[in-house]
Amino acid sequence: MSSTVSVDGVVDQHLLDQLVDGVVARPRAERAATVAPFTAQPLAEVPVSTVEDVATAAAAARDAAHGWAARPVVERVRIIGRIHDLVLDRRAEIADLVQAEAGKARRDAFEEVADVALAARYVAARGPQVLRERRRVGLIPGLTRAVEAHRPKGVVGVISPWNYPLTLAISDCLPAFAAGNAVLHKPDQQAMLTALLARSIAIEAGLPEALWQIVSGDGPVIGGAVVEHADYVSFTGSTSTGRIVAARLGERLVGASLELGGKNPMLILDDADLDRAAESAVRACFSNAGQLCMSMERLYVAAPIRGPFLERFLARVDGLRLGAAFDYSRDMGSLMSQAQLDKATAHVGDAVAKGARVLAGGRARPDLGPWFHEPTVLDGVRPGMLAADGETFGPVVAVHTVGSDDEAVELANDTPFGLNASVWTGDVRRGLAVARRLRSGVVNVNEGYAAAWGSHDLPIGGVGWSGLGRRHGREGILRYTETQAIAVQRGHGITPLPGMDYDTFAELMTRSLRVMRRLGRP
Ligand code: NAD
Repeated sequence: MSSTVSVDGVVDQHLLDQLVDGVVARPRAERAATVAPFTAQPLAEVPVSTVEDVATAAAAARDAAHGWAARPVVERVRIIGRIHDLVLDRRAEIADLVQAEAGKARRDAFEEVADVALAARYVAARGPQVLRERRRVGLIPGLTRAVEAHRPKGVVGVISPWNYPLTLAISDCLPAFAAGNAVLHKPDQQAMLTALLARSIAIEAGLPEALWQIVSGDGPVIGGAVVEHADYVSFTGSTSTGRIVAARLGERLVGASLELGGKNPMLILDDADLDRAAESAVRACFSNAGQLCMSMERLYVAAPIRGPFLERFLARVDGLRLGAAFDYSRDMGSLMSQAQLDKATAHVGDAVAKGARVLAGGRARPDLGPWFHEPTVLDGVRPGMLAADGETFGPVVAVHTVGSDDEAVELANDTPFGLNASVWTGDVRRGLAVARRLRSGVVNVNEGYAAAWGSHDLPIGGVGWSGLGRRHGREGILRYTETQAIAVQRGHGITPLPGMDYDTFAELMTRSLRVMRRLGRP
C-alpha cells in the first residue's frame, strides 16, 4: 500500500487536487462527485468540461501534434519506454487508486499495471520498425520507386470505459503517441482519477503536456464533442454506444476502432486437463468480478466430463475470497455501481424464475459492501432468458452440456457477438481446428483470455457486434496513421516513346505484362 490512499480507501487530498487540475475545464467549472465502489461514499469532485472546453482542448492538441510529429519516432518511443519504467516503479500507488476508484481486487488492479507495461514495451520496441517507410514493388522494375509511408492522423479521440480504468485509458494512447498524434481523451466519469494519474506519469516521463488532453463529463455530450473534433476515434465501450459513435463518424467520414461487448464462450472438450481448465475458467469468468470484455459467460462442457469438471470448477468458485481489501488477500472485489449490481441480480433472478438452477453463488452480498455479488454459476440457461441473450458483464456464467465438438462450435457461434473464445483440449491440433471454426476475433487454446490479450504482438478485436478494427500489434499502431503512397518515376514514363503509335505501344505493353506474370512478379 502507498501513502496516497488510506486503509479506508480515502484518497490523499493533495493528490486529488493535483489530479483534477489535469482536466480541461474553465475555472470554477461545475464539479461532479465520483463514488468509491467499496463503500458507495463520495471519492472525489471532478470538474466537468463543457462542449467549448472540448473545442479548446482539441485546438491545443492539434497545435501540439505538429511539433510532436516532427520529432523522430525513436525520440517519441523513448518517452514511452520511460512510461513503462515509471508505471512499474509506482505500481503500489497506481493499484491503490485503481482499487479506490473501481472497487476491484488488488490482483485485478496489478493486472492493469502489468498490462500497461506490456503495451508500453511493445510500442517502444516495435514502433519504429512498424512506422518506418517501406519499399514496395513499383510499376516498372528499376524505373518506378514505390514507397509506403505512414503519416499521423493528427488528433486521436480516445473514449474509454470504467472497467479497466488504467489500461483502457493509456494503452490505446501509447501507439497514437508513437505514431506522432495528439490525444483528446474522454474517460468514463467513474474512471477519471486513474486516467489523470496515467497522464501525469506520462508527463513525468517526458510527454509534452498539451499532447494528451483529458476532458470530463456526460458520455453523449462530451464524448459526442470528442467525436466531432477527432481525426480518428478509438472507442471502447458498449455495443449500443459504439453504434452511435460509428454513425456520427460515418457522416464525417472519419475512421474508428470500436472495441465493444462480448458474450464469450469457453469450450471444454472431452480430453481437456480438468484441473487446469477449472482453474482457468475461474479466472476467465470472475476476474474483475466478470466486468471484463474478454470474460467468459458461457461454458460448453463435453457430456462425459461434465461431472468431474463441475466438481473441480464449483469447488474453486466456492473457495473464492470476496471482499474490500487494499492487499492481495481477496480474489474478487465489488461490482462498479448499483447499475452493475442491478444487472447481475436481474440476470440471475430472471434465469431462476424461468427454470434455471443456481450451482454456485447467486446472491448479492451487502454484508461485504454495497455492490458486492457472489460469483455465480447457472445451469439450465435457455434462449429467452436475460443471461442467455445479452452480455451480463458481471460475475455470472451459464454451464451447458454438449454431445460433440460440432455441437459446441454451433452453440458457441450462436450469438451476434464475437470477441473472445476459449478452447480446452489435451490435443493442440484439435484445439486449433476448433479455433478455426469459431466466429470470434480472438481465440485462446488452453487459456481463458490472458494468452492472447497479453501477447501484444497479436492484433485484438471483435467481429459482429463486438466491434471493428484491432488494437495491439502492427494494426494497433498503424490504425493511427494515414498510409501515404509515394512513387518516383525515372526515365520516359508509361506512355508511348516519341514517334511510337499506340498500336505498337499496346502490343509492347501486352507482351511485357505476359512476361511479368510468367516471372511471378506481383
Ligand atoms: P458505455 O458505452 O456506456 O461507455 C463507454 C464510454 O463511452 C464512456 O466513456 C462513456 O461516457 C462514453 N459515451 C457514452 N455515450 C456516448 C456517446 N453517445 N458518444 C460518445 N461517447 C459516449 O460502456 P460502459 O458501460 O462504460 O462499458 C462497458 C462495456 O464496454 C461492456 O459492454 C464491455 O464489454 C465493453 N468493453 C469492451 C472492451 C473491448 O476491448 N472490446 C473493453 C472493455 C469494455
